[in-house]
Order: sequence, then C-alpha cells, then structure tokens
Amino acid sequence: MPFTPTGYLPYDFANRRHIGPSPSEMADMFTAVGVKDLDDLIDQTVPENIRQAEPLDWGRARSEREALHQMRVTAAKNKVLRSLLGQGYHGTVTPPVIQRNILENPAWYTAYTPYQPEISQGRLEALLNFQTMVSDLTGLEIANASLLDEATACAEAMVMGHRVAKSKAKGFFVDENSHPQNIAVMKTRAAPLGIEIIVGDPEADLVPEDVFGAIFQYPGTYGYVRDFTDQIAALHAVKAVGIVSADPLALTVLKEPGAMGADIAVGSTQRFGVPVGMGGPHAAYLATADRHKRAMPGRIVGVSVDARGNKAYRLSLQTREQHIRREKATSNVCTAQALLAVMASFYAVFHGPEGLKAIAQRIHRKTVRMAKGLEAAGFEVTPKHFFDTITVNVGPLQKTVMKSAVEEGINLRPVGDDRIGITLDEATRPGTVESIWRAFGIARKDDDFTPEYRLPDAILRTSDYLTHPVFHMNRAETEMMRYMRRLADRDLALDRAMIPLGSCTMKLNAAAEMMPVSWREFSMIHPMAPADQTEGYTILIEDLKDKLCLITGYDAMSMQPNSGAQGEYAGLLTIAAYHRSRGQERNICLIPISAHGTNPASAHMAGMDVVVVNSAENGDIDVADFRAKAEAAGDKLAACMITYPSTHGVFEETVREVCDITHEFGGQVYIDGANLNAMVGLSKLGEIGGDVSHLNLHKTFAIPHGGGGPGMGPIGVKAHLEPHLPGNGLIGEEGAVSSAPNGSGSILPISWAYVLMMGGAGLTQATRVAILNANYIAARLKGAYEVLFTGHAGRVAHECILDTRPFAESAGITVEDIAKRLMDSGFHAPTMSWPVAGTLMIEPTESETKAELDRFCDAMLSIRAEIRDIEEGRMDAENNPLKNAPHTVEDLVGDWDRPYSREQGCFPAGSFRVDKYWSPVNRVDNVYGDRHLICTCPPLTDYVDTTE
Ligand SMILES: *Cc1c(COP(=O)(O)O)cnc(C)c1O
Repeated sequence: MPFTPTGYLPYDFANRRHIGPSPSEMADMFTAVGVKDLDDLIDQTVPENIRQAEPLDWGRARSEREALHQMRVTAAKNKVLRSLLGQGYHGTVTPPVIQRNILENPAWYTAYTPYQPEISQGRLEALLNFQTMVSDLTGLEIANASLLDEATACAEAMVMGHRVAKSKAKGFFVDENSHPQNIAVMKTRAAPLGIEIIVGDPEADLVPEDVFGAIFQYPGTYGYVRDFTDQIAALHAVKAVGIVSADPLALTVLKEPGAMGADIAVGSTQRFGVPVGMGGPHAAYLATADRHKRAMPGRIVGVSVDARGNKAYRLSLQTREQHIRREKATSNVCTAQALLAVMASFYAVFHGPEGLKAIAQRIHRKTVRMAKGLEAAGFEVTPKHFFDTITVNVGPLQKTVMKSAVEEGINLRPVGDDRIGITLDEATRPGTVESIWRAFGIARKDDDFTPEYRLPDAILRTSDYLTHPVFHMNRAETEMMRYMRRLADRDLALDRAMIPLGSCTMKLNAAAEMMPVSWREFSMIHPMAPADQTEGYTILIEDLKDKLCLITGYDAMSMQPNSGAQGEYAGLLTIAAYHRSRGQERNICLIPISAHGTNPASAHMAGMDVVVVNSAENGDIDVADFRAKAEAAGDKLAACMITYPSTHGVFEETVREVCDITHEFGGQVYIDGANLNAMVGLSKLGEIGGDVSHLNLHKTFAIPHGGGGPGMGPIGVKAHLEPHLPGNGLIGEEGAVSSAPNGSGSILPISWAYVLMMGGAGLTQATRVAILNANYIAARLKGAYEVLFTGHAGRVAHECILDTRPFAESAGITVEDIAKRLMDSGFHAPTMSWPVAGTLMIEPTESETKAELDRFCDAMLSIRAEIRDIEEGRMDAENNPLKNAPHTVEDLVGDWDRPYSREQGCFPAGSFRVDKYWSPVNRVDNVYGDRHLICTCPPLTDYVDTTE
C-alpha cells in the first residue's frame, strides 16, 4: 500500500469502518451489476434533475481517536450536578451488570423490532417481564411494551380514553399537579382533535359531567400524594374514564391505580436504572383494565405456541396498529423504547419486589429527614404527606438559596417565585441532604435515623406485586449475567448477521459512536438543568443541526420528536400552524397508497383528513390522479406526504412535479425522510421541493434500533416554517410534542460521532455504496426472483422489492414461508408485505461486505431451488423445508417423517456449520396467540409443562 502523506487519510481508507465492500470486492460487484464504476451506477440511478450541485463538505473526516477526543472535550463542557429537580426525571443507579450486559451489549442494542417472533424470543421475554412488572405495580391487567416518554403516554391515554369512554362530553380534566411537560403535550395533542383541556384541582374543580375523562398525577409534581378513588368513581358514574399518571417506584409503597378503580395508568420507568440523559431515552408505560385492551396503543407482547406446541412469545393484537389500520389505528407509535424497557425490566428482576420497596422506603426516609431538618430551622414545608418530593417556602430568598445549592453541587427547582421544590432519589447520599441544608443556611448532620413515615396510612399499598418467579430468581451476579446472555443468544441481531430490512436501514452502530452514551457528562444531565450546565450538549446539538441542514437543504431543525412517527406528527402540526397564521383553513392531506402506515396515522392525529393517491403501474405516484385530487381539494389542501426515494425503492423522476402541484394549490410538502440513506450527499430534500421532513437518526445516522427503540425523528423545515416549529413546553411555550426539549438527547452523540467520523465525502460514499449493495443483490437474484420496480435504466435505489407472489400459485409458498426459511440460514427476514402485499423488501445498507451479501444471495437462491422442487413435483407441497421452517435443535433428534434430510432442513445454504444460529422455537402460531391473549408472564407451571 502506498505511503500516504502525514495528516491525510483518503476517505475510502478512513471510512472502512462503515463501508462494507473492500475496493477489490467493489470491483467484482461493478462487473456483476454491469457498470463501470460507482459514478456510472449513480448516474444511471439518481435522476439528473434532483442531484445536488455541490459536494457535501465540512472539512476533513475525523479519525476515531480524533472524534472521541472531540466528544470528550465537548462532554467536559457539561457540568454534572446532582439534579433534584424531579418533574418525572430522577437520579438512579444503573446496576453495572445491566449497563455492561444490556445497554453496552450489541446483542441487545443492535436488534430489530421483534416482528419475526422466532428469532426474537429473548427480547420478547424481557419485554413480557416489563409488561408483567408494569401490570403488577399499577394493579391493572394489561400493559404494553413501552411508549416514548411520560408526556406522550399521557396524551395517548387521553386519546385512548376518548375512544373508550361512553360519555360524549368534549372536555378532558387535567390535574394541575401534573408535570408541566405532561400538560403541554396533552394540550398539543388535544387541540386538533377538538378536545377541550380543563386544568384544575381534582378536589375542587373536577365536574365529571363536563368531561369524558380525567388524568391525575400520583404523586403530584409538587409532592402531593392523594387517593383518587372518589374522583374516579364519580367519573365512572357519568361513564367517563379515570387515568392516573404514576411513578412506578412510589407504587411499591402506595396504593396502586388499579385499586383506585383507574381505567388506565401511565408513567415513566426511567428511575428503574435508566439514566436521565438530558431527557431520554427511557421507556414510558401504559397499562389498562382488561375491558379496554383492544383500544390500547403501542406494541403488546403476548404468549402463544409454536408448531410443536411449545410456549413461544410474539407481538399480539397487531391488527390495531398503524401499519394495518392506518388513519384508524389506535396511535401512530412505531419505534418506541424497547431497549430501555428491557433495562427497566432487568432492574426489577435484579432488585425484586423487596429490593424495589427498600429503595422506595430509603428515598422516603431521606426525604422525611430532609424535611425535618428544614422544619426545625423554621421553614414551612408542603405537603404534609409526601413520597419523595416537597416544596419549601423561602419567601424572597429563592434565588439566593438556589445559588447556594448550585455552589453545593445541587440543582433545586424554582416553584412560583417564593418556593423551592426538592425531589430525592436512589442516588441521594446522606451528604446530599447535608448539602441541601447548607444551601438553606442550616448547619446540621444527617444523623436522625428515627424511621418516621409521612405517607398517609389510608393509601399505603396492601397488595402483592412482582410475585412471578422471574422476579425472585437467585440474584447472584453469575445468575443475572447468564440470564441476560441466555436471552440475548436466542435473538438474531446485527452482531451476528445482516438484517436486510427495507426502509429500516439496519446499518453499523460503531463502537466508538456508542461509547459516549455511557459517559456521565452526557447520561447524568437533567433535561431542566440550567443552560450554563449544558454547554456541551448545546455545542453538540447545534453542530449536528447545522450538518443535518447542510445534508437536507433545510434551514432549521427541531430535535424534539423522539421517533420518526413523532417527527411526522410534529411536521404536520408545523404545517397546520403555518396555514393558520396566514388565516387559512386547510385540512386535506394527500398521501400515496404506498405510504408507511405512520403517515396517515400521524395526519389523522394532526387533525387532517387523508385523501389517498393511487400508484401507477410502475410503482410511482400516479401524477394525473395526484393532480386531480389536489385540484379537488383546492383551497382545503393542507399538505401532501410523500416518501423519497419512494417506498418502492426507486428515485421517481416526477417528484418535482408532485411538489409543484402541491404548492400550486397552496399546500405544503412533507417528505418522509426515512429513506435518506439513499440521498445523503447526492440530493437534498429541501431542494427537490420539500417544506418539511423528518429524519430517522436510528436509520440513516447510526443510532441502533435497540430491538424496537430508542429512536430520534428530528424535523427539518424551510425558513418560512421555522417560527411554527414545536415549542418547548417546559418553559411555557405552546406546542410541545415530547417530554423533553431535545427529545432523547443522550443518543444524539451517536449521530454526531457518525457524521464527524464520516465527513461529507464519507457520507456520500456510504450512500453510493448502499445503492451499489442493493443493485448487487438485485443483479445476483435476477432470473430467480423478479425485482418489482426499477428506474428507467433498470436500477433500484438503496433497496429492492422481490416479487414472491407467483409462488403462492405455483408452489403454495408464501412470503412468510420464505422469511422463516431464511432463519435456517441465519438471516433476519427482509421487510415482509410492505409496501406491496406478498413481497419482500431488501435493504442491505453500505455496512455489509460482499461476502455477507453473497451469503444472503446464496440462501435466497437455494430457497428458490427448493420452491422449484415443489413446483416440479420433486418435493411435497405441504411437508417441505419451507413450510417446516424454521428448524430447531428439536428437529435433530427423535422421529423424522420428512421427505428431505435433517441436513437439508437444518443446514441450508448460507448457514454456518460451527456458528450455526438456531431459532429457539419452531414456527409461532399467530392466530392462537390472539385468540388466547396472555400478556403477562405465564405461571411457572407452564414452563415446566413445555420442557417435559
Ligand atoms: C421507519 C419509518 C417511519 C416511522 O419511523 P419510526 O421511527 O419507527 O416512528 C416512517 N416512514 C417510513 C418510510 C419508515 O421507514
């Protein structure tokens, strides 16, 4: 290799980390695809009229060490104080066994959403533990497997309440003791739906007849601990619903919402071992009574059986979700907080019910001692009964005390202009209490150990929780570590094989990008910490915004939405606010039939009426139909929502025309940016006609999928929309869409490290190679499978759709059979049945090497040969390797009545002999699971039954 001059690395060397094929592999791929080089391929693929003129450039790409150094320097500008600001964000202690084996373990964080249950049994079990934990703590029968944050969970509960309440009232009552961000996000969500929010004191202001439901905060944001049984009964009397937003740790000592008669409980599981991280990510929960289960938003893990009758987990009730029900779905939630829910569930497994209760009691006793010290010095402390939060009347001394507290290394919360709020947590040390006293001018030792309680006797918890054996396992770390390892081994994540999911861009999540997430300067920052303590975050976020603007051609970015779907919702609200500001009433949103299900679901949430536009024969938007529908909408046209390159995996040449038509009729163009991995450095959304787009940082910008979340869905807008971006509910602005101003702030270092280490040229190269990899797969599978859609030169974009529908007729083989058979070869299936039913959508990304693409193509070709055997009568149509897939170790022993060998069944092309991935269960029965809905851990006797 030629020696390169000092200080300069050619980008194809520097970026070998992210770019799979080596230069020599690429040369072979050009031949297979039939192009001269990458330039030639891109010229054939990306239409001239959308190409950007200037190359993407912000200077030299940083090496790994340089980038990490820059991250360190930036992190050091964040000041880590003990934030006792409460408001739903608490100090917590992440057990190291969880930090190392879950949070920092690619087997967990690189997994995809568990849509293919057979290869997801590990995380499905962990999520079922989460549901069981939530269900037990709240005293409600059924819980989902996480929502995005507490405030959006409150909004989801409100809308769910609206769906299930028989009361026809328009109002919704919100406890004035709710966390401010919860109130802000519920207001945002209520407005487009015509729901009237009434904020007030539950004991004085609630008029049940005026509302379809009410939400109460428990304990309240200022510490009040109240029993809402009477309010909920009064609501039920007029057929309205009662919702409680509860701190799950408090529920270990306090009467549970279920016992108050609540219909729904929501809250955040952040303090179950998940660092505050500038506001996220952490998992919110939603639990409900059995009677409302079908109206529940989000994913629910359930128990079913596999083809051998063994217990197997799967996602249940999926027909309620946006990908099926579109604008009639229960919500738009897609990516949620799976990894964080897994962490919280392991925190409960780690501590067990006694451990959790001990933590809660310790926090409470510390709070009592702190309060006694303040009272002894003459301060007035409110409320009389509390769990972990009090407010102190300091009269004119508010600023002085807060400043002294900061000098002691502590952030306290200003309440009004004469009170100070203090919330203690698991990480509070006796020294912390003494520091608080000193801030109030009290010199005192924390030596009062009288175990006094200030919880009201009437609402102490009396029922059991976490009785399932999983919460009582031997807690030796050996056992914990092995349980985590066992579950991880059941799953197929990116650390083992390509996950070629169309539209979901499962690319490398490089170790260097992940490391800063665990640094305390990023993970221990409260989202409401004063700005002078978060300078590092500000630098990071502003620079990332600038680069994302350069990449997309937009003028401004909001980092608030914490998923792609939340970005869609925020973007459409921005459009709606813009029209309103110009005195226009526009509510029609044109959406192509091929759109992702979250698009219509989000449009509905933003109060828009969806008009569906047809696709032409070649998969493109039918421009004539688009024009006709835009014309028909006329001055009611609010927006169109298109995806570019299209969900069919081609760069449509007519995109500018579609944008022009929308603008001609006064509408705004929303371009779904989930496919941005095909565009970075080649074309800009803001230049081809987009007014607003969301970017999925957990797709294009290297944030891992976490088995179904976290994600980040920031939106970019053109300048005219900037004044209408979502406000920041925390500081009293209207229009917040998430709990925290910058969404899940603590995962932004991942995307920042990614763009720093890639540089403009590296990112552009990634795009080009992503397109090469997809075209290589299309070329290798040509003749065996038909590629459904291509551009004019016969090329696909960064993904391709294979038509597997003909095999239903010719061999009785469905797309599902193919997906399951791929598991035997050690692959996660591509996206199934979207955007066209009965097809497979494959997106390899730039990260995969030619060798891995070949392994995948070999597997696909061998599947095709097996189908041909059925077509031509050499293999039975029912009893064959496809229908029986996936094969498990159980298939290696015992009777074998199949017309093919165990060898063929278990070791098809592409599978490894030594490192063979074994699906832990045979094919999972979906129908059975929905018919016998079980969404909490089954009793241990069931486990015994199935292993016999
Ligand atoms: C992934 C995706 C979304 C939704 O993003 P989430 O982060 O899962 O909410 C929207 N549109 C398209 C085309 C997608 O692929």
